[in-house]
Amino acid sequence: MLTDKEQKKQFKLIASRNYEQYYVVDFLNKEGFSRFQCFKCNTYFWSTKQKETCGDSLCSGGFTFMKKKLAKNSLDYIQVWKKFSQMFRNLGYEPINRYPVVARWNPTMTFTIASIAAFQPYVVSGEVEPPFKKLVIPQFCLRFSDIDNVGLTGAHFTNFIMIGQHQFVEEDEWDQEECFKHLYGWFVDGMGLSKDDFVLHEDAWAGGGNFGPCMEFFSGGLEIANQVYMMYEQTPDGDKKLRLKVLDMGMGHERVAWFTQGTLTAYEATFPTVCKKLKEITKVEVDEPLMRKFMSYAGYLNLDEIDDIEHEWERVAKEVGVSKESLKEKILPLQGLYSIAEHSRALLVALSDGALPSNVGGEYNLRILFRRALGFIDKFNWNIKLFEVCKWHAEYLEPLFPELLENLESVKKILEIEEQKYKNTKEKSKQILNKLLQSHITVAKLIEIYDSQGIPPELVVMEAKRLGKEIRIPENFYALVSERHDKKEQVHQTKKLEIKEFEFLPPTKALYYGDYLDNLEFNAQVLDVKDNYVVLDQTCFYPTSGGQINDIGRLDSCEVVDVFKQNDKIVHEIKGTLKKGKRVYGFVDRARREQLAKHHTATHIINNAARKILGNHVNQAGAKKTFDKAHIDITHYQSLSESELNKIENLANEVVSKSLKVNKSFMKRFDAERKYGMDIYQGGAIPGKELRIVNIEGWDVECCGGTHLNNTSEVGNIKILRSNKISDSVVRIEFVAGLKALESEESKNEIVTRLTELLSCNEDGIPARCNELFNLWKMVIKKKKKLEFKLVSEGNFKGDVVKECARILKTQPEHIVRTIKRFIDEIGKF
Ligand SMILES: [Zn+2]
Ligand SMILES: [Zn+2]
Repeated sequence: MLTDKEQKKQFKLIASRNYEQYYVVDFLNKEGFSRFQCFKCNTYFWSTKQKETCGDSLCSGGFTFMKKKLAKNSLDYIQVWKKFSQMFRNLGYEPINRYPVVARWNPTMTFTIASIAAFQPYVVSGEVEPPFKKLVIPQFCLRFSDIDNVGLTGAHFTNFIMIGQHQFVEEDEWDQEECFKHLYGWFVDGMGLSKDDFVLHEDAWAGGGNFGPCMEFFSGGLEIANQVYMMYEQTPDGDKKLRLKVLDMGMGHERVAWFTQGTLTAYEATFPTVCKKLKEITKVEVDEPLMRKFMSYAGYLNLDEIDDIEHEWERVAKEVGVSKESLKEKILPLQGLYSIAEHSRALLVALSDGALPSNVGGEYNLRILFRRALGFIDKFNWNIKLFEVCKWHAEYLEPLFPELLENLESVKKILEIEEQKYKNTKEKSKQILNKLLQSHITVAKLIEIYDSQGIPPELVVMEAKRLGKEIRIPENFYALVSERHDKKEQVHQTKKLEIKEFEFLPPTKALYYGDYLDNLEFNAQVLDVKDNYVVLDQTCFYPTSGGQINDIGRLDSCEVVDVFKQNDKIVHEIKGTLKKGKRVYGFVDRARREQLAKHHTATHIINNAARKILGNHVNQAGAKKTFDKAHIDITHYQSLSESELNKIENLANEVVSKSLKVNKSFMKRFDAERKYGMDIYQGGAIPGKELRIVNIEGWDVECCGGTHLNNTSEVGNIKILRSNKISDSVVRIEFVAGLKALESEESKNEIVTRLTELLSCNEDGIPARCNELFNLWKMVIKKKKKLEFKLVSEGNFKGDVVKECARILKTQPEHIVRTIKRFIDEIGKF
């Protein structure tokens, strides 16, 4: 099978050779377009006038729309979507709300990178029905490969809106000419472009095994839209026509605003109010005639496509007619200003949609953005608060995305913490660097220092200078770092082993979705057996999935020790033998099922309790529910304090005592998403047309396949045991529920009783004596001298005595008694 890149290249040739078949030639001819080939890049293109080059800024000499306004209509950023969506509504497309930039529904990416990503993979694959057959969407996207270009070229963004025009239709409803005409109409009537002023490129697109021809809309050197006709899929037996025809048109919202207004940069058109405010604060002045000249050539500085940046600066300076130094002096502060504006918008949208800067995974890129922005503020010594900038963005964007204003408090808090972390790193880094700079620093080393210690390269250069050394930072430094972190780490289903013999069995009917205690006994037929592994036609046994561990029990006289999923089959591991074709009677261990249900429902309760106490950024990052205990990993930026844990525990128990109903039902995916939002994917992306929705009425709604209680009161009691940080953006909370919580309560009472005996005091005096004993012990150890002792301190501690002692002794509750005994022993021994 070809890679996407190879496929694209190959199909571009095929499509161009058979262009009459793949493009809307009749329509183009009727409109007066003819076909030409660019002598520079060889691309075939369509234009109303004879041209030698294709109109791409690289082939045709910069952005010409900067010099001469081409669009009759001038659309500001807010108007672009309003006008576009109105026009397409009249053409039969449903305008829908954007999806979050955190792509929880999509197992292949962390962040939404294109408008079509909202419908990948399940809608595009035909597995799930689309929300509408024809729709348009203003989709915020995040992409980090161009970080270093942001601010400089005037056109690059990490956070942008891709306006999508999409169709998901059967072959007989597919009309490529109509798709094209609709977009063409937008260019002519919506933007007010003369057809003499744009050109259309023949190209091909490939991704995720699908491919098809596409047509790119260029005007004034700028690519504004790309209309892809996804028609084929690669299979081992050769290329196949897709059953569902997918129209994937993506248009740069920022580009339309920029192009139609002819502002200096795309940033001025995208965030006009923010640019104005930042200029007032920084007093950066724009030399407009020089900037206009510069912007026509700024594309030459695209770091993706050049090797020697200094050489390109020379080239651009020559075109502009000034020295390289004076050009840089004028341009670099603006680069800083625009980068701050761009990055703060990216952070606003990402954090507001539930992402957190981190030291791991794709979210590491958010930390890069934050630090790059702070780097500019430091470098130019500007008095700018990033959060303020975020606020201005939210205010400006309110007509399109009012939700951004609602989450500002949470965004503020996260940025504050992130800034604190940055400061700490800077302090720490000075010491580290002194040592590291003794040896030679390569680019790889520079990346590693940034990656493992969080020390930005600018700081390394500064420290090096102090020591009389010179270090060069590669221009695409942040892109290099970002590459290393872009992979998605969410693994949803644990596949235990694949048994070949079971591959072609029909799917197992799952009987465990109803009432968690009603479905414990069943009759079934053995479909196949391999060693100790058995597949039935139906089963009540819950297989390990969604973080919940499997049921156990019996099949006839055989013990069931493990249950797991193999695709749509459920496999039972048994002790003993069963014969293929036999009818069996199965029953599930009730105590275990009950405890697992308690732990699972408690997990959902705690998830939202944590969100209520800590903020809207909290989402589940992982979870595990076993018989003995459970944990939930939540996204949060720092360790939890005792008081936060207490608050979460109290709130969770309040929900238990409120006796809220827990409803379970299957819903169509789109209906569920529309009704409850994308936050239902707390456990990660889930395939299928129908989703099982677990709704704790008035509290929490998640799509989840687990066995759940019917009412929160059945949880009995929730006890949080401990929490610890497992990465820079994820905290684990361990807890027990129900009987297990009672057991832990009981063992707590036991600990208290033992301590009152060992320390000869009442319960409220325990912490003081515990402290006294600990200090005595430390003294004895230090002086290595035995001591006759009697504990004398008095106390009247109010609160959780066991927790307090664990804190004093820096140990786990279960080790307290043993530790105290050891102290008493050792003090007497010397
Ligand atoms: Zn060309
Ligand atoms: Zn769940």
